[in-house]
Amino acid sequence: METSLITSEIDFGQPGKQTGFLRIPHSVHRSAYGWLPVPIVCLKNGTGPTILLMAGNHGDEYEGQIALSRLARTLMPEDIRGRIIILPMTNFPAAQAGTRTSPLDAGNLNRSFPGSARGTPTEMIAHYIESTLMPLADYAVDLHSGGSSLFYPATLLRGQGFTPPEAQKLQQLQTAFDLPYAWVFTGGGGPNSTARTAMGAANRNGVVSVMAELGGGGTVTRDILHRCERGLRRVLHSLDMLPDYTPDAPLGTRELQARGLVYAYDSGLFEPLKDIGEPVAKDETVALIHHPETPWQDPAPVLSPYEGTVLAMRALGQTVRGDALYQIATEIPENA
Ligand SMILES: [Zn+2]
Repeated sequence: METSLITSEIDFGQPGKQTGFLRIPHSVHRSAYGWLPVPIVCLKNGTGPTILLMAGNHGDEYEGQIALSRLARTLMPEDIRGRIIILPMTNFPAAQAGTRTSPLDAGNLNRSFPGSARGTPTEMIAHYIESTLMPLADYAVDLHSGGSSLFYPATLLRGQGFTPPEAQKLQQLQTAFDLPYAWVFTGGGGPNSTARTAMGAANRNGVVSVMAELGGGGTVTRDILHRCERGLRRVLHSLDMLPDYTPDAPLGTRELQARGLVYAYDSGLFEPLKDIGEPVAKDETVALIHHPETPWQDPAPVLSPYEGTVLAMRALGQTVRGDALYQIATEIPENA
């Protein structure tokens, strides 16, 4: 793999707490020799695994950015065993702009792996994570939310593992994170569907990784932020990286698999008839698309092609044909 042009102000081998930036060379009109600052924090103490914690992969997803910033401020090297690498604004230009994709190159970081050493800023970030940070890591956690357009309850996402030990570790991380929902990738959720994501980068590097969807709608939800922060410390504790932390009693996680998305076929205003967590029958009317520009026209009903439970839903009222309104999930069969 080609050598990255990104340089780090952090020496990943050095003990203690270090703060600084990954420097992405960015030569533009106002700054010929400039660089883009991706904030990074590294804590290292004693012996133990390395975990890579990321948020701001999509720039309009905020709980993870806040949780990792607070973790970076409050954790002290003596609190931990091993090494914690924290990227609160992984696609920094997107996170700075508060947009899913980067305003510099329209890059969607979580569709850009394995990236390119000589590519756009987004491709360079993907390449650096794939080729420099993941090889340092044993575990990775990538914190997302529904972004501006979707809303998720606090949900852990994970594969089923390629080996029994990995499957056991993934189950351990899920149990430790203790979010209300877990979306387990069964069947079609294998390496192909995640290949362009940070989880794909983790898989290619033999890193045990999970993601989380934490709210959305361009907002910050107090309860979900709390569940995220609690979950991160529980995960570190379960990996023996935060020995003095005492986890409270687990609240339990409902495991689901994705069944499919319900799309709008009409443009207009989305009136949801279901909430997150509600059961849905096949062919049940789950939304109405209103046409206030011709208010005498009846709204168009949207029928669910699937039976299941609403896991995520659209957060925006304005809707055009092709927008996803709901994600429907189902229980995982015993032999999945
Ligand atoms: Zn995301």
